[in-house]
Amino acid sequence: YPVNPVILSTRPVGLFSVLGLPLRPLCPLWLTSFPIFFFFALLASWRFTSSYPTLRLSHLPRTVYHLPMPTPNVPEFIREDLQKLELSLADDQLKNLAEYLHLLLDANQRTNLTAIKDPDTAWRRLILDSLTLLPGLEMLEAGAQVIDIGTGGGLPGMPLAIARPDLSFTLLDATGKKVAFLQSCVEAIGLENVRPIQNRAEVVGHEPEHRQRYDLATVRAVGKIAEIAEYCLPLVKEGGRMLAMKGAAAETELADAGDALAVLGAGDLALIDAYPEGFDSELVLVSIVKERPTPKMYPREPGTPRKTPL
Ligand code: SAM
Repeated sequence: YPVNPVILSTRPVGLFSVLGLPLRPLCPLWLTSFPIFFFFALLASWRFTSSYPTLRLSHLPRTVYHLPMPTPNVPEFIREDLQKLELSLADDQLKNLAEYLHLLLDANQRTNLTAIKDPDTAWRRLILDSLTLLPGLEMLEAGAQVIDIGTGGGLPGMPLAIARPDLSFTLLDATGKKVAFLQSCVEAIGLENVRPIQNRAEVVGHEPEHRQRYDLATVRAVGKIAEIAEYCLPLVKEGGRMLAMKGAAAETELADAGDALAVLGAGDLALIDAYPEGFDSELVLVSIVKERPTPKMYPREPGTPRKTPL
């Protein structure tokens, strides 16, 4: 037979009964209902507050406060090592080196620029190692052109450019992100003698603006000597030089590269220990003078010097 739920209901109509709870004050169901009410109260307050507009940076007044960037310190051991190496840098050059390293390590958290993350190691292996090339730049006169090939995050080119503001540095790398980082460094530090370029060495090696235009080519961690000589020597003037930063394998690599060097126009070769005794480093500088013009066919197609070194 038809059932009328209103007539059958023994509970008073109201919020509690809607939730299925009897209105008797001491009923144990009252106690169990508290968490349910608490939940709905929370839900209601969340709905209410979330209807406030979200505060965005663009809502703030457009006053820009330029807070001075704290200048990172030059560690004392670096000042001591520079003295031992008889390299003297002015205070503002040291400050620029510190700022560059700060920018490099900061950007390295987002873009892969170097495997070194510890600041002290970075001072030693990135900055100081790069500065060991300075004696090799002594004979260059003001205005001389230097190119750093496969510079990556700017090594050794940036520290050298900071230490020698009288020379012009072209920092070449195939990777756009790295070159964009270098451009931002140049602007942040205010370097007027640095020009970052994104391209491959095999391409710029054939461009009249670059071929045989440089007094010195530097290179670190790009490849074996036969490969990097094919990148560097076409860009260097006759009588100019390439300086490569190498490890303990330098001598073997140089011996293997004999034919390549002869073809590319190399003359005098020298292996120089970058550090005097007492330093914990195996860094060797390979100096290769360009004696004769490089034949027009070099460098070969992009990728070939690495795949099939001369
Ligand atoms: N020289 C830097 C250093 O010591 O930290 C970077 C070394 S990283 C291992 C090698 C760099 O060389 C990369 O950034 C790469 O893009 C660049 N590179 C390799 N072959 C190149 C080429 N043929 N032309 C231009 N850049 C090249």
